[in-house]
Amino acid sequence: MKKVVIEAPAKINLTLGVKRKRADGYHEIESVMHHINLLDRVHMKMKSEEGITVNSDSRLIPEDKNNLAYQAAELILGKNGLKEGVEIFIEKRIPVGAGLAGGSTDAAAVLRGINSLMGLGLERDALMELGAELGSDVPFCLMDGSALARGRGELLTPLPKTTEMQIVLVKPDFQLSTAQVYGGLVLGKVRRFPDIGAFLAAWTNYDIINIAREMENVLETVSIEKCPQIAVIKRELIQLGALNALMSGSGPSVFAVFAEEEKAAYAYHKLKSCYQEAYLLRSYY
Ligand code: ATP
Repeated sequence: MKKVVIEAPAKINLTLGVKRKRADGYHEIESVMHHINLLDRVHMKMKSEEGITVNSDSRLIPEDKNNLAYQAAELILGKNGLKEGVEIFIEKRIPVGAGLAGGSTDAAAVLRGINSLMGLGLERDALMELGAELGSDVPFCLMDGSALARGRGELLTPLPKTTEMQIVLVKPDFQLSTAQVYGGLVLGKVRRFPDIGAFLAAWTNYDIINIAREMENVLETVSIEKCPQIAVIKRELIQLGALNALMSGSGPSVFAVFAEEEKAAYAYHKLKSCYQEAYLLRSYY
């Protein structure tokens, strides 16, 4: 039977602003999302008999219907009236519950993989529409590069390529629930909102110094209160020469942007001895 392996990159939020809470309970966001080369690898093998199986080398994710990869397979097979089954194996390298869209990117990889294995010929837009049924971050995970996300995160405007970023990412040793962090957000308490106009001006000018300066995430107010270690890691990264450091998504991952690869490598080696999950990364195109 046919097999495929798809790379599933993590995302970081270079900016994350929240406009308001909507009547449907979701928050209206505005966020610049960026893929980084921290990758899961999703192996898929079609089989002639029905049934979806999910296995992983990680003990931290479910291997049943609760896995977003399972739900993605069920959705695309069902919508296309396919009777075949699929075996999925996830090589998990993206930290779980970390604000890096690990589940969403695996789901996106499954949509792409089954589309290709079964020769469905679905265009990216059709896959993104399916992805939106699975979660707000899944459509972005089907895109390349970077995008400005609005709405729940599913309304995407692709951004042009900019300068490649040198990134150090640290995942503290605990998880945060996205729902709980959004639930704790009080917009009146937020002191700084992202200036998206200034950010995008720096972006189109390949101006890494101002890209870094304009990075802002309103959810830090909530997550840092729950977990002050996030603020400690940000300070450490800046002391080690980062242009700026920010929490990604609802956290707790913190990433820093560096002007030079050597400085990033230096900071990474320093932090690796204190934090088990530290990564030296770059943009993923
Ligand atoms: P987001 O930023 O999209 O809210 P996250 O990066 O904070 O997500 P995930 O790593 O996607 O968080 O994990 C969130 C929850 O989803 C975890 O509790 C995990 O058990 C569950 N989950 C289901 N499928 C997966 C998957 N394939 N990979 C990771 N987590 C998964």
